[in-house]
Amino acid sequence: MSSVHTDNERRKQISVRGIAELADVNEIKKTFNRHLHYTLVKDRNVATTRDYYFALAHTVKDHLVSRWIRTQQFYYETDPKRVYYLSLEFYMGRSLTNTMINIGIQTACDQALYELGLNIEDLEEMEEDAGLGNGGLGRLAACFLDSMATLGMAAYGYGIRYEYGIFAQKIINGEQQEEPDDWLRFGNPWEKARPEYMIPVNFYGHVIDGPGNTKKWVNTQVVFALPYDNPVPGYDNNVVNTLRLWSAKSPIDFNLKFFNDGDYIQAVLDRNLAENISRVLYPNDNKFEGKELRLKQEYFMCAATLQDIIRRFKASKFGSKEHVRDDFSLLPEKVAIQLNDTHPSLAIPELMRILIDIEGMAWEEAWELVVRTCAYTNHTILPEALERWPVSMLESILPRHLQIIYHINFLHLQDVERKWPGDMDKMRRMSLIEEDGEKRVNMAHLSIVGSHAVNGVARIHSEIIKNDLFKDFYELTPEKFQNKTNGITPRRWLLLCNPGLSDLICDSIGEEWITHLDQLKTLKKFAKDSNMHRKIMSIKQENKLKLAEILFKDYGIKVNVASIFDIQVKRIHEYKRQLLNCLHIITLYNRIKKNPSAKFTPRTIMIGGKAAPGYYTAKKIIKLINAVSNVINNDPIVGDRLKVIYLENYRVTLAERIIPAADLSEQISTAGTEASGTGNMKFMLNGALTIGTLDGANVEMAEEMGNENIFIFGMTVDQVHELEKKGYNAYDYYKSNHELEQVVDQIQNGFFTPGNPDEFKDLADILLKYDRFYLLADYEDYIKTQDLVSATYENQPKWLEMVINNIASSGKFSSDRTIIEYGKDIWGVEANYKKLPAPHEPRELQLRE
Ligand SMILES: *Cc1c(COP(=O)(O)O)cnc(C)c1O
Repeated sequence: MSSVHTDNERRKQISVRGIAELADVNEIKKTFNRHLHYTLVKDRNVATTRDYYFALAHTVKDHLVSRWIRTQQFYYETDPKRVYYLSLEFYMGRSLTNTMINIGIQTACDQALYELGLNIEDLEEMEEDAGLGNGGLGRLAACFLDSMATLGMAAYGYGIRYEYGIFAQKIINGEQQEEPDDWLRFGNPWEKARPEYMIPVNFYGHVIDGPGNTKKWVNTQVVFALPYDNPVPGYDNNVVNTLRLWSAKSPIDFNLKFFNDGDYIQAVLDRNLAENISRVLYPNDNKFEGKELRLKQEYFMCAATLQDIIRRFKASKFGSKEHVRDDFSLLPEKVAIQLNDTHPSLAIPELMRILIDIEGMAWEEAWELVVRTCAYTNHTILPEALERWPVSMLESILPRHLQIIYHINFLHLQDVERKWPGDMDKMRRMSLIEEDGEKRVNMAHLSIVGSHAVNGVARIHSEIIKNDLFKDFYELTPEKFQNKTNGITPRRWLLLCNPGLSDLICDSIGEEWITHLDQLKTLKKFAKDSNMHRKIMSIKQENKLKLAEILFKDYGIKVNVASIFDIQVKRIHEYKRQLLNCLHIITLYNRIKKNPSAKFTPRTIMIGGKAAPGYYTAKKIIKLINAVSNVINNDPIVGDRLKVIYLENYRVTLAERIIPAADLSEQISTAGTEASGTGNMKFMLNGALTIGTLDGANVEMAEEMGNENIFIFGMTVDQVHELEKKGYNAYDYYKSNHELEQVVDQIQNGFFTPGNPDEFKDLADILLKYDRFYLLADYEDYIKTQDLVSATYENQPKWLEMVINNIASSGKFSSDRTIIEYGKDIWGVEANYKKLPAPHEPRELQLRE
């Protein structure tokens, strides 16, 4: 390390948006050297690249601190309505580059490090991803935090500081292996522990009568919630919001009983039991796993967060006087709580418990406040993903909450009875308590009843919720139901990850798109401009070359950068249909083998994503893709016309490298199963064309860009329903298409695993017998549409016109737009782009504007 590295390309690229002031650069060099010496306790002779990363991270964090303090001071003084985003997942990825960009010191840091003989990109590579999420739901929460800060909202993220985030995926002999993600091993320079704000959370115990109508929850086991604050900087507005993550801490007197028995060692060892609550993220995506520890995580987060919210509500001054605010009727005017899926839905009974048992409020009054304060976002209609906690588990761990849920249900069923007198079937369907088999609490029903707003995450998904999944509830309270189509932050998903394209856009239309993404529509006029075509093509080519270098380094595979980079990256799940992609891959291979001299548009097909460790079929699909890849990549007849690569350990940081290099984005879920998707939006923004079904946000993407700019195929939701009604017979499709028949046979009889012919029999069985996601029904149209993709790629002017139209139409999919809508329609909070004053120190920031 520490060789002088010019890297003129990147330095030129970022220079477009700011020339480093000499004073800033010198200040950063000084601060960096001070941190290397005093914080890292190293000199340049022994410092490692990681030490340099930490020195830079601390330097950048120093620049955040006064903005952070002043933002929080500003909120305290002006007492705006606070927005609380509650989520069991925040898939943040790295912070260093994003922070430098958002506070406008990237160029200065780059220059300072360069003058110190260091390459900032090597340092950036040392940062661990904050992988506190599984996929789309967790990444959405992270994009929302960026947008809420950029829009100047007084917003807080609340979640869990998992000691182990999403596992690292290793592909060994074609199979997924999981490794624990020990992301805190070297420390986390961005977080600030706040032991002084530790909060007790209760579990178990039992309920006795208290004074008046109150109940007391007694004989509980206590676990402390220790908050860690993480800065969330807005883009270029001096706002720094807070993401507060809770860590479980055993109380000093935990297991006192043991201690008194003299088993001091055992008492200390058992402190682990309490602290296990925040140990590890559950790695399921779109799957409910009813484990006791998971229920404890959910309640732990809700209980700590609500105490914090109430404390802040009481402490906020209003007018000019400082005093304790005890008028809870103001709660819905000062607090909005957004539930990211049902995972934090225990916030509803917990807030009731606080208002009734602790604040002494009457039920009716408390209930109105709770409903007006809370709102629920649904993320999936897959039945296996809906949370249904056994009543017996709640009874033991949260006895008081179970009582409250029963009473909520009692009053709710009275409403149902009033609306539909005597309709017992309706009552049964709408009850919060499911009585068939083991008694369970339906957490989605609880969330709907306890919220004033319920939203889906794309138009088609919100319609399905109203007309299908929650039809009864829609008929009972239609005014609650809304749509909020998801979005992504253009800061991370274009400005940060694709500096080449960002610069071209800035050169062409200015910088306003960074905070007003709909400005991209002014690029439409360049759609047929051959000069623009050349520039767009060369940026994409550079991004593909950069990815090709990584692929060669990591997998030793040489890829043809003139080929179509055809990419499907997302969690591995049957409904996302990676197996359908695989059927196409095998079809292409069979065509080359059948007619080696025929014209063929070269493709590099990449698939990446993690399977839940206990999801047998998803893991089998990974194994199949790798087996197919192994045969194809080593077949000399194929040459460099077709390559198949499994992208190991897909995560936020890998997404930032892959997506800017994509030509084709695969969004091929069965219509009606993908609530929105956000990966689809990232690809579109980075100039990849989409092959996709009319599912989730694909529908609105097609609407924005026009059907002539996207490759739509397959059944619509209505056609899926028809097929379902009439009965799906996979065998008919199999027998009616020769290419399909051959492909399924090859999977069936072990063509790709000669040593083990039965290896993929179970996958073939699913395709032909038990397939809930109708792959064979969509196969033929998928293949035809893929052929059209290839033909279109051969016509580069046409392709590039479509690419520009894609980028120019992506404005709607900014998470800024999504958050403005949440603010207007659900939270009653205005998005004002007004900047906070820059802090008086550090000095360089005063000079801006
Ligand atoms: C955006 C994103 C996702 C979501 O992708 P979908 O295609 O919408 O499922 C998942 N994982 C990571 C790392 C992402 O960045």
